[in-house]
Amino acid sequence: MHYLFDHLDTLEAILTGRHVLLLLDFDGTLAPIAPTPHEAALPDETRRELERIVDRSVCSVGIISGRALGDIQAKVGVTGITYVGNHGLEIARPDEKPRRIAMPQFHILLDRLKEELAARLATFPGAIIEDKGCSLAVHYRSVEEKDRPRVKQAVHETVGTFGGEREIRLGTGAMVLELRPPISCDKGTIVLSLLRSEARRRVGKSVFAIYLGDDATDEDAFKAIRGRGWGILVGKPRISYAEYYLNDPGEVLTFLRHLVARHGKAI
Ligand SMILES: [Mg+2]
Repeated sequence: MHYLFDHLDTLEAILTGRHVLLLLDFDGTLAPIAPTPHEAALPDETRRELERIVDRSVCSVGIISGRALGDIQAKVGVTGITYVGNHGLEIARPDEKPRRIAMPQFHILLDRLKEELAARLATFPGAIIEDKGCSLAVHYRSVEEKDRPRVKQAVHETVGTFGGEREIRLGTGAMVLELRPPISCDKGTIVLSLLRSEARRRVGKSVFAIYLGDDATDEDAFKAIRGRGWGILVGKPRISYAEYYLNDPGEVLTFLRHLVARHGKAI
């Protein structure tokens, strides 16, 4: 795995004459990880840089999060970019009405699942069940370390009683378990769909994707863009489908500044 800032010249050579689709995860990538999802916030400097990217037509931007769409839009608050919520189940493109994959049956199941989880996890202080509209997340960062395996076990058992992985897709993130509908929709499939629509819009110009993410759910995206762009892991180098890394959200901001300086049109 290579440190991105040692390879900016290579990247710039690739970007010459191409249109860039810059895709970013939110938590742990743009915003530092906070004790609870509610407390996570986008640093003001990062918001300003995203606004500059839009204003100066640096590239197309998409933010792809496991959070609910409305939540991620509110946390970022920048217009002119695409927002993807719930790992791809919801999408809002600039100047278009938001779209959500309709799954009425799954919604009924989610309500029952939420009740069952609330009962089972009541004895673990710090466990947070987040209702994201079309999925649930169980956060256990604030649960005492010795209890975390039991929280995970309780979630697995609950999924088991509701028909197992045939009915509910169980995903793992950083200190979170995601309970999603059993359809093939993840950060990888959404990234490919965004790349296709960007290519349709930029006829005659090749589109290059840059995806930044920090988490296990971002691996689907890193894998999907291989050969079509660069995956950049945010965090310590590890085994990953990403070939490049940056250390933290602060370095992501530095990278955004670099893109604006190199590719921003004067205004
Ligand atoms: Mg993340």
